[in-house]
Amino acid sequence: MTVGFTEDEIRRLRAETPGCAEVAHFNNAGSSLPPAPVLETHLAYLRREALIGGYEAQEEAQHRLDAVYAATARLVGGSGPDEVALFENATRAFDMALYAVPLAAGDVILTSTAEYHSMFVTYLHRARGGVRVEVVPPDATGQLDVGALRKRLDARVRLIAMTHMPTNGGLVQPAEAVGEVAREAGIFFLLDATQTVGQIPLDVRRLGCHALAGTSRKYLRGPRGVGFLWVARDWIERLEPPLMEGHAAEWVEPERYVIRPDAKRFEVWESNVAARLGFGAAIEYAQALGLERIWTRVQALAETLRTRLAAVPGVSVRDLGVVRGGIVSFTVRGVDAARVKAALRAASINVTVSPARGTLLDMRARGLSEVLRASVHYYNTDEEIDRLVAEVARLAG
Ligand SMILES: *Cc1c(COP(=O)(O)O)cnc(C)c1O
Repeated sequence: MTVGFTEDEIRRLRAETPGCAEVAHFNNAGSSLPPAPVLETHLAYLRREALIGGYEAQEEAQHRLDAVYAATARLVGGSGPDEVALFENATRAFDMALYAVPLAAGDVILTSTAEYHSMFVTYLHRARGGVRVEVVPPDATGQLDVGALRKRLDARVRLIAMTHMPTNGGLVQPAEAVGEVAREAGIFFLLDATQTVGQIPLDVRRLGCHALAGTSRKYLRGPRGVGFLWVARDWIERLEPPLMEGHAAEWVEPERYVIRPDAKRFEVWESNVAARLGFGAAIEYAQALGLERIWTRVQALAETLRTRLAAVPGVSVRDLGVVRGGIVSFTVRGVDAARVKAALRAASINVTVSPARGTLLDMRARGLSEVLRASVHYYNTDEEIDRLVAEVARLAG
């Protein structure tokens, strides 16, 4: 099955993904297999650094590095490179916006039940000193109840912070509807798009968010160690970064500094240039294929996997929501998730385990201590799905 892609194209895409010859990779929500052009960009820059010096290599590559910011802005539908900041991961990117939104005692942060642990502990940390964190319940389908969100709004709500897709299942939150509510009420909306960037076409204008954080290594197929933050231009100068350094601000007088006007005010100067260039190559690669096509195929493969797994006696598929993406979560009756993962690994099939603590609110509410997570990407095939399902069936039997 090749929704939106021909068989030949998938063969070609797999041929230029070295990892496809080694493993059936269903851990794309953890870290995808990079395509050769991404790997080569990454490695070529490391070689250049070794040959001519790190700073000299950066000077030489400065225009390409600048282009990464422009590409990131285009990827999410932003206005320009001045709205983008780069980090080592999505968590810090998200944090820099979260800690910059002015909050006082009595103010409220609204969020969802599907939040990732790194984000939720950050909400709790920001809640020291009298800020309240309120969790909007899900509707019967498991997605955030937008009607309930509307009812929670009052003058104390200053921030809506939510994940677009959780780490532990295929649920896609109704981010556009949340954005509409946020915009109408004039509330800052911060979206964690870590699992959706590279998987779903993103457009910050349609999403209605004021800031969005994402990563290179998951569905974008870029190198590890890169995250990004997009901030709406008219908000940048209203957000004071919680941390300062000499690239975020210029030291102009012995006792005075001036914070830069663009989103680089959230950054730190020293960084992994090779990985950032690889991230840029990954964006180009995804955009050349087309995010609409990628999204169509990822959804189709994930639905196939869900249907096949659900037909195996003893296996329960656990995904929530109306719209579902590439993450397929399931449990095997009577078999520990770690055992399933290890057995699959021995058969060169990569899946992972999402423990309860990763998305504590959701997992507790559903009485789940862990789920297996098989996350598909467009380069996965029906043949790989057959192998995965056959192994799971053997373990379940
Ligand atoms: C992976 C993940 C994150 C964190 O991304 P890092 O780059 O590891 O900081 C945040 N939210 C969700 C939903 C994730 O799956």
